[in-house]
Amino acid sequence: MKRKRSKGTFTFMLVPNADKEVRQVSIHSLLLYSMFVILVIFICIMVIWQIQQKKDMNAQIVQLNQDVKSQTEQYFNTVEMKNEEIEQLQNKINFLSNQTTEIEQEIEEIKALKRQLEQSPTSGIELQSYKDTATPNLMDIVTYEGEIIQSDPIESILLSAQQMEAISDEVKAQLKEQIEKVESAPSIWPTSTKSITSNFGMRSDPFTGAYVMHNGIDIDGVTNDPIYATAKGTITAVGNDNSRGKYVIITHNEDIKTVYMHLNEAVVEQGSTVTKGQMIGKMGSTGRSTGSHLHYEIQIHNKAVNPLLYLP
Ligand SMILES: [Zn+2]
Repeated sequence: MKRKRSKGTFTFMLVPNADKEVRQVSIHSLLLYSMFVILVIFICIMVIWQIQQKKDMNAQIVQLNQDVKSQTEQYFNTVEMKNEEIEQLQNKINFLSNQTTEIEQEIEEIKALKRQLEQSPTSGIELQSYKDTATPNLMDIVTYEGEIIQSDPIESILLSAQQMEAISDEVKAQLKEQIEKVESAPSIWPTSTKSITSNFGMRSDPFTGAYVMHNGIDIDGVTNDPIYATAKGTITAVGNDNSRGKYVIITHNEDIKTVYMHLNEAVVEQGSTVTKGQMIGKMGSTGRSTGSHLHYEIQIHNKAVNPLLYLP
């Protein structure tokens, strides 16, 4: 292609192969400039459009990055929150596990107390009633249904566990009280000899012959035979008078007292405590007595009862 310039126009010569004719194309210079200007404007528009596109894309990328960042933060917050919840739950489970162990121990303690109570020796009818009333049912504790006001099941269990502990404390206190009563009740012989010479009840008085009440039993023995406390208690009287001779009174609990009369000697002091089987004096014949013996008396609510009912 060749270009030949004449005034006001541009002439383009098209030269094909040698055997073909040469062609000329004349274009007015104004048209050519116009085409050039249009081309430049088109390129400018394209460049601006591209720049704008890129800007938009960058803005979108920034927005996306922000979204991702925000979602990641949200995700981590959620994870942290869940971790805290899991930790709290774990703490509750640990606490509950400890509670369960404690309750199991409580139940074991209660069982041991019940065994202790059942094995405590008793012979009196009144004392038997202590045992009968002292058998709270373990199932009452195990199947206790507390008033559940918590909506959270774990909180409910924790609450029930606390209530169960409170109940078991109450049951233990009751059992200990009953054991205390049983252990402080007379249940052994006050002497080594077991020979009764005069029973509880109406009899002829050995001195006057009058038909009178005998408030205890007389047990035969030899002077200075040991006399034992028939249950644990506190010595509330050590005395000597013409009727009872040298005597000792033991208060075992708010209901029961035992009285030991005609002693040759008391070996305990008023106010001291004694255990079951502890020696408190020596057999004698002091006071209104015809020979060496022990007058043994049991009082329930200050009223004499038949001591035979409390001997093994
Ligand atoms: Zn007597």
